[in-house]
Amino acid sequence: MRETALKSVQAMAAQYGDGMLSHFIDGKPRDGAGTAFDVYDPSTGNVISQARDATADEVDDAVAAAHRAFPEWSATPPETRRKILNKVADLIVARADEIAAVECLDSGQAWRFMSKAALRGAENFRFFADRAPSAADGLALPSAEHLNYTSRKAIGPVAVITPWNTPFMLSTWKIAPALAAGCTVVHKPAEWSPYSARLLVEIAHEAGLPDGVFNAVNGLGETTGKRLTEHPDIKAIAFVGESSTGSAIMRQGATTLKRVHFELGGKNPVVVFDDADIERAVDAAVFMIYSLNGQRCTSSSRLLVQRSIYDSFTAKVAERAKNLKVGDPFDKATEVGPLIHPRHLAKVSSYMEIATSQGATIAAGGAPVEGDGFYFQPTLFTGAEQTMRVAQEEIFGPVLTAIPFDDEADAIAKANDVEYGLAGYLWTSDVGRALRVSEAMDVGMVWVNSENVRHLPTPFGGTKSSGIGRDGGDWSFDFYMETKNVALAKGTHKIQRLGA
Ligand code: NAD
Repeated sequence: MRETALKSVQAMAAQYGDGMLSHFIDGKPRDGAGTAFDVYDPSTGNVISQARDATADEVDDAVAAAHRAFPEWSATPPETRRKILNKVADLIVARADEIAAVECLDSGQAWRFMSKAALRGAENFRFFADRAPSAADGLALPSAEHLNYTSRKAIGPVAVITPWNTPFMLSTWKIAPALAAGCTVVHKPAEWSPYSARLLVEIAHEAGLPDGVFNAVNGLGETTGKRLTEHPDIKAIAFVGESSTGSAIMRQGATTLKRVHFELGGKNPVVVFDDADIERAVDAAVFMIYSLNGQRCTSSSRLLVQRSIYDSFTAKVAERAKNLKVGDPFDKATEVGPLIHPRHLAKVSSYMEIATSQGATIAAGGAPVEGDGFYFQPTLFTGAEQTMRVAQEEIFGPVLTAIPFDDEADAIAKANDVEYGLAGYLWTSDVGRALRVSEAMDVGMVWVNSENVRHLPTPFGGTKSSGIGRDGGDWSFDFYMETKNVALAKGTHKIQRLGA
């Protein structure tokens, strides 16, 4: 599989004169003239190859292409959009192994998860493709003397900016509804994992997407990303990434009054009461922090356990953490792969000193894995308190902080006592308590007696510093489309006769 990935990456790079991954603008690869940057294989620490930061002209050209293509694409019969986007899904399925392999190479995510990520990307396209014909539908809102009805139309060219943790799946999740709605897109994938996004834009064109409808520019956030989010012809920004980047993007888009949709960071609690099904709760807690190398926005990075079972529960989690198979992402047995980048490895590592200096205990892991690559041991902190930095800050690695709580009120207070509010997980056999705690948790999504299992028609998104807006179902269309109300008078209402 590594061979497949390397061949695929080489084929992408070969489309550019200098062999450096650049951009895809107006239906074709575009040689970049910007500064080159390294893209790493996180499992070896070697540079896979280089990519180029887009110049201001290149960003402008990508936006201009999206702007030119918008009138025709937004007016294309939705049935035609449906067919093309379903074809994109078919081609993703046909190349699922190659996409998964590129994702493993580029992001360090383990094969056991990535093999399904490409298929989930295809499902995202199918889901929104099939809803394209009804995307413009609105509501009938009759009043006494008028018939009001609403309809929606695509907002215009949009920027989609994505992170590196599950790059392909996340790109499809944001881009498929934009295209289905009739928007045109300029996508900027994360600079640490640019390859699978390049495959996506290539596949979309192979499926028959007209030139200019979907463009991709590579580059750094502070240059390419900034330019894109400030561009006057971009009407909305769909962004997935860190909360602080969301703030920067909001500032950058303020002058041109851009609509923004933010899916940001999390410090999600998994709350385990003493009446829970303990074995399933352990399975879910371990899965939700250590899968995807802990680089997951919805990871349950805070384990809140009722005091009576705290020691026994955390002992089980520690045993599992020590037993996890850390290794080559291409090895089908691997459960935890490397972190994305040396800078991220340094960030995650720094939290070990932060934790112990504030009084937490390292019950499992606690150090980088010796040897090549950016591996970090699955780690558990026990004896932690709510005020500690490891209980408050998003670490975004395979690192879990376990905190005891006394009763329902204490559990709710601790669950909510962070700046984030993306997801919450709750384990109890008491239905009334499940309802009460779910309602009290200040988060966008709660899973009761379950790990994160996505269902595409449901809303996805967070409160507080975890985001603005919701994706999924019709929520995605609400973001990518403008709603218009038309009021038709029955001719019966009284009009004031000024100046008569
Ligand atoms: P990041 O914010 O550093 O980068 C995300 C993207 O933003 C990258 O493409 C980057 O180049 C770009 N960017 C950076 N600065 C920019 C700027 N000034 N203007 C425009 N673009 C800019 O995030 P990351 O480190 O790549 O990803 C990890 C973060 O993403 C974590 O906080 C994680 O929780 C979050 N995330 C959230 C969700 C969600 O659905 N809520 C999903 C996945 C990841």
